[in-house]
Amino acid sequence: MARYTASVCRLCRRSGEKLALKGSRCLTPKCALDRRGKPQGRQGSRRRISDRAVQLREKQKARYTYGLLERQFRRLFTQAEKQTGITGENLLVLLERRLDNVVYRLGFADSRSQARQLVQHGHIMLNGHKTDIPSCLVKEGDTITWKEISTKTEYYKQLAQNIESKSVLSWLSLDKQNLVGQVLSLPTPDDIDAKFDGKTIVEYYSR
Ligand code: SF4
Repeated sequence: MARYTASVCRLCRRSGEKLALKGSRCLTPKCALDRRGKPQGRQGSRRRISDRAVQLREKQKARYTYGLLERQFRRLFTQAEKQTGITGENLLVLLERRLDNVVYRLGFADSRSQARQLVQHGHIMLNGHKTDIPSCLVKEGDTITWKEISTKTEYYKQLAQNIESKSVLSWLSLDKQNLVGQVLSLPTPDDIDAKFDGKTIVEYYSR
């Protein structure tokens, strides 16, 4: 599967917002957006931005945040459209339900890209089964654990030491002793600190 390999800080600068794509580095003075400030290209100018450009920017922000290619993002959007309810909210919930996002939300990784790697490398079990598909959608009651052999790694040992300081969102629970996560309920849009507007993304795809 193709993926974005250039500097992710460039994506923040392009969006003009801190999308926190680099984990703990984003909270330090090393953050490229904090250091350089001005967005890339001509977005920093006073030129009026068209409605279409605003819609595109919101869509890109969501896509960058979850690290998806356009094709993957569009597929989720189509799925959100087919569900009952508000498409923008459905999309947000589908994005949050991705296994790589849940691994990130549980604090098992500093960023979604790191979480994706953990899943792809087979360290994570979903309901007791090895699952190496980051796009897999979790359901209420699902449990997320570590593969036995992965608990011997230095990464896991470090994580176990630092997990105490981490907190999880209300739709998830985390057993900090055993590093076992559980999906208590499906997320609602209010549970999610989205940096983008789902309604504007729907407008983008409606044209
Ligand atoms: Fe974005 Fe993080 Fe890079 Fe700052 S350090 S520009 S928040 S990815």
